[in-house]
Amino acid sequence: MKIHEYQGREILRQAGIAVPPGVTIDAIDAAAGAFKTATAGMAKPLAVVKAQVHAGGRGKAGFVKLVKTPEEAVESAKFMLTHRMTSPQTPPEGLEVRKLLVAAGVDIADRKGAAGAREEFYLAVTADRKSRRNILIASREGGVEIEQVAHDRPGAIIKEPMHPLLGLLPNQARRVAFELGFRGKQVGQAVDIMIKLAKLYVERDCTLAEINPLIITPPSPEFPDGQVLAIDAKFNFDDNGLFRQPQIQAWADPTEENPAEIRAHKFGLSYIPLDGNIGCLVNGAGLAMATMDIVKLHGGEPANFLDVGGGATEEAVTEAFGIILSDKRVKGVMVNIFGGIMKCDVIAQGIINAARNYKNADGSIGFKVPLVVRLEGTNVKEGRALLDGAKSSLPTLQAATDLTDAATKVCAAVG
Ligand code: GDP
Ligand code: MN
Repeated sequence: MKIHEYQGREILRQAGIAVPPGVTIDAIDAAAGAFKTATAGMAKPLAVVKAQVHAGGRGKAGFVKLVKTPEEAVESAKFMLTHRMTSPQTPPEGLEVRKLLVAAGVDIADRKGAAGAREEFYLAVTADRKSRRNILIASREGGVEIEQVAHDRPGAIIKEPMHPLLGLLPNQARRVAFELGFRGKQVGQAVDIMIKLAKLYVERDCTLAEINPLIITPPSPEFPDGQVLAIDAKFNFDDNGLFRQPQIQAWADPTEENPAEIRAHKFGLSYIPLDGNIGCLVNGAGLAMATMDIVKLHGGEPANFLDVGGGATEEAVTEAFGIILSDKRVKGVMVNIFGGIMKCDVIAQGIINAARNYKNADGSIGFKVPLVVRLEGTNVKEGRALLDGAKSSLPTLQAATDLTDAATKVCAAVG
């Protein structure tokens, strides 16, 4: 599960990591007031208006804007709330922006305290399959180019594996802080942030906890070497841990999720949209993967991964068809069921019901795309008999004798 930056900032704050204050708005005319609140008490007012969407790359897309007056804040808010945001991390059609964060802007200095000589750091905690540990990732070349840096100069990325029980140790954090070039009182601040980030990653069941950028403010009487601050926050959470994370669960934002995935979740279906044109309806994750492989082997491209599970009901099967066919790229559907706990006649009845209830865009009823069905296992005879008896409701149905036959037929059908 993903959350918005303003919520991520709240998580950081609760963990004791310093973040500039801010307010969220969802209307253009709230921007001027938000600017005043965010910049209250500043000698030279500066705020940053930031689109709140579940995708990064906002800076480059023009959806993070520094503003110096209420009027500029309104102008930025107007642009962001009336344009879809497109970045390499969004679908091609972009994302609608419904919420903005108006936060106190900060001056970014470098490690030596020179204002204007900006330096941005990258800091994240995630799981690393290679070392089979949680790792701290850090770089002194953070900011909006981090993906490029990781690609071009992997040496500029520090990776520090952590002990599974002890977490990030103070000496590890200090080593990373020095490697990043922090100096004087910055070191203690950076170490404190790293340790807190590593701790909250585990406590909050994260799969990613990322601060990009981490910055240093110009020196002030309170912070003679500058203050180390997080000015962006990105979190992903493990869905399996949500039951014990009520605060995070409450932040689930269905408007940011793929509607088909939400629908699938309601019926206990595992659905992952892919790029191809052959819809797959399968029981069991292993069989679903094997089905995708065999479709590919015969030159086809699966449009999705869909596992109806071991004990799917007729309703769930009907819903599964609705979800698969809601993807307009789907030009054919392959049903591959191996009946164990699942009974083939239940699936067959589900297919028939789905066909009798499926409404096309033009109002007509029934499936128009080719449908190839391979059934095997418990109650297969009953299942096949049901399908045979419902031919008039399933004019595009082809029965397949085995997996290869099914893949060959569906690939031929979609051309
Ligand atoms: P992202 O592009 O979606 O990751 O959005 P970020 O929140 O990271 O903002 C993008 C960039 O905007 C940052 O890397 C900074 O260079 C800049 N930026 C964001 N907030 C501030 C701020 O308060 N002050 C200054 N000077 N720059 C900022
Ligand atoms: Mn960022």
